[in-house]
Amino acid sequence: LPSDLASDKIRDVEDVVAKSFFPPGYWNLLNRLSQYYYTPLMQAIKVALPPGLLSRSSRRIRLKPEAIPPDAGIFLSPTARQILELLQASKTGDYTWQHINRQVRGATRGLRELRRRGWVESYLEAPRHTQPKLKQAVTLVVSETGLDLTPRQQEILAVLQRQGGELWLSELVETCKTTPSTIKALEQKSYVVIQEREVLRKLSEPAVADDRPKALTPAQAAALETINNLNGFAEVLLHGITGSGKTEVYLQAIAPILERGLSALVLVPEIGLTPQLTDRFRARFGERVCVYHSALSEGERYDTWRQMLTGEPQIIIGTRSAVFAPLPKLGLIILDEEHDSSFKQDSPAPTYHARTVALWRAELIDCPLILGSATPSLESWVEVHKAGEREAIQNPKSKIQNPKSYYLSLPERIQSRPLPPVEVVDMRQELREGNRSIFSRSLQDALQQLQEERKQGILFIHRRGHSTFVSCRSCGYVIECPNCDVSLAYHHTEDRAPELLRCHYCNFITAHPRHCPECSSPYLKFFGSGTQRVEEELKKQFPQLRVIRFDSDTTRTKGSHRTLLSRFANREADLLVGTQMLTKGLDLPQVTLVGIVAADGLLYFADYRASERAFQTLTQVAGRAGRGDDPGRVILQTYTPEHAVIRSVRLHDYNAFSQAELLQRATNNYPPYGRLILLRLSSIDAAEVEETAELVAAELRPSEERNNSYEILGPAPASILRVANRYRWQILLKFPSGTLPELPDWSLVRSLSPAGVSLTIDVDPLNF
Ligand code: ADP
Ligand code: ZN
Ligand code: ZN
Repeated sequence: LPSDLASDKIRDVEDVVAKSFFPPGYWNLLNRLSQYYYTPLMQAIKVALPPGLLSRSSRRIRLKPEAIPPDAGIFLSPTARQILELLQASKTGDYTWQHINRQVRGATRGLRELRRRGWVESYLEAPRHTQPKLKQAVTLVVSETGLDLTPRQQEILAVLQRQGGELWLSELVETCKTTPSTIKALEQKSYVVIQEREVLRKLSEPAVADDRPKALTPAQAAALETINNLNGFAEVLLHGITGSGKTEVYLQAIAPILERGLSALVLVPEIGLTPQLTDRFRARFGERVCVYHSALSEGERYDTWRQMLTGEPQIIIGTRSAVFAPLPKLGLIILDEEHDSSFKQDSPAPTYHARTVALWRAELIDCPLILGSATPSLESWVEVHKAGEREAIQNPKSKIQNPKSYYLSLPERIQSRPLPPVEVVDMRQELREGNRSIFSRSLQDALQQLQEERKQGILFIHRRGHSTFVSCRSCGYVIECPNCDVSLAYHHTEDRAPELLRCHYCNFITAHPRHCPECSSPYLKFFGSGTQRVEEELKKQFPQLRVIRFDSDTTRTKGSHRTLLSRFANREADLLVGTQMLTKGLDLPQVTLVGIVAADGLLYFADYRASERAFQTLTQVAGRAGRGDDPGRVILQTYTPEHAVIRSVRLHDYNAFSQAELLQRATNNYPPYGRLILLRLSSIDAAEVEETAELVAAELRPSEERNNSYEILGPAPASILRVANRYRWQILLKFPSGTLPELPDWSLVRSLSPAGVSLTIDVDPLNF
């Protein structure tokens, strides 16, 4: 576009942004992201950059004291004088424009007046978190002490010298029990200098004991050898059963990367598992380990981003968005628990999968990508077996047919520990025989035994939103969220805290009513088997057992994961009761018992991936048992023990599961064979979103008939129609083969949706 700005005032965005914030080659990644996920490039950049970086700078007004005559006030209108006085009263002589506007009526005119006289100027200030955090450092200049010093001052210099000639001012004040002014006096006498230094904001985590590389098992050694011999891009699926020591392989694969002066990127599903994993990495690699995830403050993320850009060899451990970590010399990417669906962003666009982006990155910079899991996603499983070979490629010296993908397996647990036997309990049978408790007799016995033997256990509860709803025993009324089509969940944090009801979708909170809003009966009771329900049940039946609840309620605050897990590790509790979070790679060697309270909630979800997700979750939970010296056992309670998934879980049989499931997928043309694109539409207007969905579907349909390239499913309401007062509809496009043959005209599709309806194109959707 032509512009009237002088050419030297125009700079190439790519140039500016790329040079200051992105490592070389990164631009290609963002372009690919934008194209693959049908997202404008700007949105792709936004998802990659640390948050808040693109937020607006704030405008500030500053006094120019040298220009202001002493009698300035008499020349000015009342508003201008007010602004002047306000600024003069400020310590720094400046304020944000926003602040001035709040304090002074009609400030715009007053400001214009002051600027015309040249008494103030306005400037832009970058967002606070992008300003460096500074700290004062005291450096020793002259070490011989002169006669002009008091004994106290001499002592300070001596301390400084002992500490290597430099200390933070605050530390020196603390150590010498002195005051900053005493030290400033030393500066005036030129014995020391005080300088501001930037300190990087980083999450400070408790120290960990050093750890040395372990002697590898033969399977670990074989896997490591293959990885070490890789040259450039490769996709490696490390299929290691739970407790087989995948992390040790990662650690030893990273060591030579750092030695070569390169960095490594380690992606993990959720923050819940990060403290344990980061600790293991920090124990091995110390300060070179940084974390990067959304629980960090904006300042911490910004500083870590800049730290990464330095190119010093380092290890970044982070969640989904860390796949964009701007490491200029990246030598290895690892995705741990690669099957986990939290690697996928559902909204906003780009709806990327960290595994997909990691693969592009690895290709672009020509480095290996390791995907680790005990229950690989079917996508990855099929990908590495594409070459037609079905056996594990365990011998690195053999000629490999497809040199770019490798399947490595760790089929045994460390020290040949057995996988825990899984006892499947039929809950229908329990009921028939008169047991109405949520715990089967088998699980009750096991808990009893746990208590007697002073061992530790885990109870897993599958909860998605509405499993602890409150209903009236007289009229059947269920208390629902006023904003969403879901029932409210019952919450009770402590004995003395009020009983609350909360919506898991929009976070609406209300007090637990005493009487039924419908029929006024006092018999309002909560149902289901959420973590709290289980906790209360345990209190009744096993008052002696000490319980820690580990779910999204008890882990809301920063550091709470770590606290709860270390309390459990220190045996301050006998049982860890939790949800999905327990499935993510926790290594708690002292756990002997795992109870799955009800598996059924997982098996019946109305989407094609229900079985895969159920198999993965149940296998992972079961895998928490018996990871230490004591053997473990698993009790799995279900109403459908004959279900194929339950059978595969009981037998720890990934192959049986994947073969059956892949057959299903192939027959129905679902991923990893066919491909999917989901159009998500939402609006506060129920009718408008439905009409738009119909309109869009009608537009997409003709081309379906013409070239038979894709199939349309829907439009249909989303599984929960209304969330946070927005009505949601969706249209699923199903493409037959690996590629997308003929795509709809997205700009046309977008133009059909009016301003009030938001439309997201979710490529390779995972969560429906
Ligand atoms: P995974 O991630 O495969 O479930 P982990 O990496 O958590 O397994 O390893 C399970 C346990 O075995 C951990 O406590 C780990 O420290 C230990 N471990 C791993 N490799 C070895 C080894 N070669 N020798 C001894 N212990 C090991
Ligand atoms: Zn009622
Ligand atoms: Zn709600």
